[in-house]
Amino acid sequence: MRKATDAKDASIHGTSTICQDAIGAGENFCKFTLGKTTVIALRDGYVDMPTTRLRKPDGQPFQGDLPPSIPLVDGKLRLSVNAFLIIDGDNHILIDTGAADSWAPTLGRLPQSLREAGVDPSLVDTVAITHTHEDHVNGLVAADGSNAFPGLKRLFIPSQAIPLFDNIDRLARFRNLRAAIGDGFRIGQSVMAVSALGHELGHTAYEVKSGGSTLLIWGDTVHVPAAQFDRPELAWEFDADQDKARASRLRLLQRCDKPSHFIAGAHLEFPGIGYVTRQAGGYRFTPL
Ligand SMILES: [Zn+2]
Repeated sequence: MRKATDAKDASIHGTSTICQDAIGAGENFCKFTLGKTTVIALRDGYVDMPTTRLRKPDGQPFQGDLPPSIPLVDGKLRLSVNAFLIIDGDNHILIDTGAADSWAPTLGRLPQSLREAGVDPSLVDTVAITHTHEDHVNGLVAADGSNAFPGLKRLFIPSQAIPLFDNIDRLARFRNLRAAIGDGFRIGQSVMAVSALGHELGHTAYEVKSGGSTLLIWGDTVHVPAAQFDRPELAWEFDADQDKARASRLRLLQRCDKPSHFIAGAHLEFPGIGYVTRQAGGYRFTPL
């Protein structure tokens, strides 16, 4: 994965050239190499949300004063829903699962996206979850009620999220398989859990490090990319703890504002991978 180092180079990373660094791409997947690993961004779909979900630093919604730079679709915020597969040595590690049929009809494409990328869902042997919201975990069960990943051997859930996970009836069949993990837990040769508390109990990012490059798959650290990079102090209504989520966002942005560091987000515009650079008052996100 390449990171531009000067303004001229950065200028070729516009949204119209998305996936240009990819080694393979289709409508629903985008494949990159990161050192010895392969990272595949997978589209589950999108959801449209009312603008009142975005919150000012005092927790209040915008009332007719939404920054005009934020794109809307029929007056709503459109959030991409992405998951990421890491092929790390012998392991196929999936970070989040999409929603399957549990939420909006515009979601649930992930198994098809995997197949389009040339990966049979049965090859996924490890799933690690950023948090237990439906668009991140309910895709463990396919729309037809079968196990979406029949070859699943390891299922990692952040320890603080275990009680929430165990409360989801749809996922009862996985209670014997799930294992609790914490900050610093290593999932494979190149993947490590990084605590990112705030959005939901146990909210966890996963860092992929290989060949001198680092990718932080940070779940729901940013929901509205057009707003929250520039102004990381803006919050999301569904952040269980908005102050903690804001602190995590700032900490992770700072952590990733370095050469050869990339981020991947569940709700960044597909494929949801890029890099950040510091700018006055906040950060700038440059998609790959
Ligand atoms: Zn989410």
